[in-house]
Amino acid sequence: MIIALFALVGLFFGSFLNVCILRIPEGKDIVRLPSSCPLCGKRLRWHELIPVVSYAAQRGKCKGCKGKVSAQYPLIELTNAALWVLAYLASGLDAHTGLLCLLGSALLAVAMIDARTGEIPPGINIAIAALGAASLALDYPNWPEYVIGAGAVSLPLLAVWFATKGRGIGGGDIKLMAACGLALGWRLLLLGFFAGCVLGTVIHIARMVFGRAGRSLAFGPYLAAGVFASALWGRALMSWYLSLF
Ligand SMILES: [Zn+2]
Repeated sequence: MIIALFALVGLFFGSFLNVCILRIPEGKDIVRLPSSCPLCGKRLRWHELIPVVSYAAQRGKCKGCKGKVSAQYPLIELTNAALWVLAYLASGLDAHTGLLCLLGSALLAVAMIDARTGEIPPGINIAIAALGAASLALDYPNWPEYVIGAGAVSLPLLAVWFATKGRGIGGGDIKLMAACGLALGWRLLLLGFFAGCVLGTVIHIARMVFGRAGRSLAFGPYLAAGVFASALWGRALMSWYLSLF
C-alpha cells in the first residue's frame, strides 16, 4: 500500500521533472507556464497530463497535431517512480526518505540534462545543496561529516580543474560533488564518486569500442547514478563490510 503511494506520487513528480528537464536548460519558467505540445503549441488539458496513462491512451501522439510525443516523458515518470520506491525500501518511512526521494529526482534531472546538453544547470546544484543543508539539520550532531563531504571530492577536482586549465573536468561536476557531499556526508560521497567513476569508465570504454562515442564524456549521468546508489545502499554496504572483521 505504501509502496503504491510512493510509486503514484513519484509518477506525478516525474511529470513535473519532465518539465524541469525540458525548460531549465532553456531558462524558461518551470512553474507558471502552462504545459503545451512542443510541436504545435496546443495547451494540454488535465486529462492529457496524467503520467504514463495519457501517453498510453493517446498512443504516444499529440491530440492536436498527431505528432509523435517523445517516449522520454513516460520513461522519466516511470524511472522517477522507481527511484522513490527504492528510497522507501532502503530507508523506510521518515523525513530522511523524503530527502532521499527529492535527491533521486534532482540527480535524474542532472543525468538527463547533462547527457543532452553537456551542462549541469546551477539551479539544480543549488537545489541539491539545499537538500544537503536539510540533511545536515536532520542529523546535526554529526555536522562535520557533511561539511567535510562538501569538500571531500570537490576540492581535489578543483585542483584538477586548475591543473588542466578547465579541460580535465567540468565546473558543473565540481559543484555537483560539493552539493552531493553536503547531502550525503563524506563517507557515502567517496563511495558514490568511486562507483560513478567505475561505472563511467566501463560504460564509456564499451561505447568507444562498440559504438561511435567520442573521447569526450558527459560525466554527470555516471556521477549521479553512483551517488544515488551510495545514498540508498552505501550505509548498509559499509556496515556489512565492517562486520567481516
Ligand atoms: Zn501537438
